[in-house]
Amino acid sequence: KAKELGKNRCIVFNKSMNEEIIQRVLLEKSMYEAIKNKEFIIAYQLQKDLKSDSFTGAEALVRWRHPEKGLIPPNEFIPLAEETGLIIPIGELILREACKKIKNIQVKGIKDFSISVNVSSVQLKSPNFIGSVKNILNEIDLDPKLLTLEITESILMESLAPNIKKIEELRALGIKIALDDFGTGYSSFNYIIKLPIDILKIDKSFIDEIHTNQKEKLIVGGIISVAKKLNFNVVAEGVENIEQLEILKEQNCDKIQGYIFSKPVFENELDKLLLK
Ligand code: C2E
Ligand code: MG
Ligand code: MG
Ligand code: MG
Repeated sequence: KAKELGKNRCIVFNKSMNEEIIQRVLLEKSMYEAIKNKEFIIAYQLQKDLKSDSFTGAEALVRWRHPEKGLIPPNEFIPLAEETGLIIPIGELILREACKKIKNIQVKGIKDFSISVNVSSVQLKSPNFIGSVKNILNEIDLDPKLLTLEITESILMESLAPNIKKIEELRALGIKIALDDFGTGYSSFNYIIKLPIDILKIDKSFIDEIHTNQKEKLIVGGIISVAKKLNFNVVAEGVENIEQLEILKEQNCDKIQGYIFSKPVFENELDKLLLK
């Protein structure tokens, strides 16, 4: 019987699929260790406010400093962390770290600096999520208006009504909500007017060609103008060059995040950039 099973397996899984599964299991196992060993670290990417021409906030972006594999980017482990549920302790860890960092920047004399943290659908779904956010805010004694939570529209679409309710609860605490990656899903204004959000982040894929493609430029201009009429604060993501920046200025975009100003950097580097 066992032999038969073994035989079937050989047919079902070819060598490379087998290899993939082994890698996944190993990765999952080392993810447990990684939480204990504090291998998840945050890189911060500055956001510049165009009106005041100053850095008013940053986005927290997780990296995994793996003892053997080196620095692993989020796209390579967040999906597995979501499948296994490990995103819940990892997400909590990131949120706590980011909140501590806001406090730490305040102590250094920069009073209104805000940080935004990405939230996975698995976290939002978890019944303990709001409680854990409250605990962290209390523990750190943080002004909630300095914290933004980033949520993608696909997360919201999954179960619109209950998620809207949760987001309203978070906003009632004073936290800001950003809709991340706007434009990559089924985004329509008809849909976003229903969402209780404060900030709209236009995805990099829209920004990439605004300086070379007149139609892309028109679309982004339209998004910004409607979003601002709906009272959203607008952030453009993935801005890499001066031409893009100039167009976004003309179009009255509020904030810019992109390599043009800074790549994501670790804590010490962030401090240097801010105190410069
Ligand atoms: P995101 O939230 O949309 O973050 C923006 C991504 O674009 C980041 O990639 C950032 O490094 C990159 N980026 C920013 N400006 C530029 C630019 O000018 N040029 C280019 N080429 N790239 C730019 P990163 O750090 O690899 O993160 C990828 C995604 O992983 C994030 O997309 C987010 O969805 C997810 N992620 C990151 N950190 C976390 C986290 O703590 N929790 C969860 N649940 N997801 C996270
Ligand atoms: Mg984000
Ligand atoms: Mg994004
Ligand atoms: Mg993204």
